[in-house]
Amino acid sequence: MKGDQTKLVHGGDPNPRILGSVVPPIFQSATYEQNEEGGYHDGKYIRMSNTPGHDLLHDKLSLICETESALVTSSGMAAITSALLANLEQGDVLLAENRLYGGTEAFISEDLPRRGVRIERFDGMDPASWGTPPEGAKVLYCEAITNPICRVADFSKLIEWARKHGLFTIIDATFATPILFRPASVGFDLEVHSATKGLNGHGDIAAGLVAGNRKNIEKVRLCLNYLGGHLDAHAGFLLYRGLRTLGLRVERQCENALGLARYLSTHPRVKAVNYPSLESHPDHAHCLEYMDGRGGGVLSMEIEGDAETAQRVCASTRFMANAPSLGGVETLIVRPAASSHASVSPEVRERYGVTEGLIRVACGVEDLEDLVDDIDQALEGSHA
Ligand SMILES: *Cc1c(COP(=O)(O)O)cnc(C)c1O
Repeated sequence: MKGDQTKLVHGGDPNPRILGSVVPPIFQSATYEQNEEGGYHDGKYIRMSNTPGHDLLHDKLSLICETESALVTSSGMAAITSALLANLEQGDVLLAENRLYGGTEAFISEDLPRRGVRIERFDGMDPASWGTPPEGAKVLYCEAITNPICRVADFSKLIEWARKHGLFTIIDATFATPILFRPASVGFDLEVHSATKGLNGHGDIAAGLVAGNRKNIEKVRLCLNYLGGHLDAHAGFLLYRGLRTLGLRVERQCENALGLARYLSTHPRVKAVNYPSLESHPDHAHCLEYMDGRGGGVLSMEIEGDAETAQRVCASTRFMANAPSLGGVETLIVRPAASSHASVSPEVRERYGVTEGLIRVACGVEDLEDLVDDIDQALEGSHA
């Protein structure tokens, strides 16, 4: 199997098929018969993420991520917290990018310090500022496309620097998905994803993913086992189904986002558009180098007017729901200052580029013409 879509459709499928079932069944069983020789860790048990349903997912996902191993989890946050906890000890320093997903930000800044882990920041977009990592630095953590202004770092340069200083590297590649970017190919030790977003793609479950080499995944798996962050059998079935169309959906979302970004760039009510496939984006070169120029399904824009105007735009779209999340088949629109970044201080918000009038659109797979019409009427109406 060479192509992404072929891997997504067939990868992991049991061979021979179970009782001829073309779609693998749901293994709705918490425990499994033990074989005579096996010890405790060989027994199949749902919390150990080693049931037949988990195995199918791990095989499909490691194929598409091009990693030795993969581990599904109950949510993106379960993937992130277990990947970090498995690799940090008291006295270690976590070197974290200065723009991160809100849940991750809260975990590393509020919870990890209570466990004796110190947090230091670095600016992923400014290699000149990196210098020498602080004493005790052990893990470097960053994101593939940052939320909501869609920054893309020079990943090879970052890995080169991290390796030189012996840092273990973890990247949250949720916004990119394995279709646009394969972290293992540039040398990241682990990648984490919220599969609640693009990987499942239908907005109906929470799930997460950690991928990397066997040794690194085993370490995270042991941590996940006692935290209890395994993926449930039915959610696993839905994730497996969603994955089958990942390539098609991401392609369409990228087309929609680029089309919408181009349209909005010339719109009189729009001041600026952030989308990495646009030549005007500060990280356009990195988007070309690492993601073939495809910037993913999310774009953001600054509009003329104040917070209330932006709020009215989000509330007056006809079919785009005013809801957080991304990567689903349906387009979602939010004002980050009132959603993902509502609880952070104005200084932090500024660091993230989240202004009061910023609007984020997470494109689905509808027809571009309809997305343009919907956003257009919302922009017109909100200024009346
Ligand atoms: C949504 C999201 C998460 C958290 O994932 P959950 O599945 O909601 O736990 C982590 N990182 C990024 C970039 C996300 O968008």
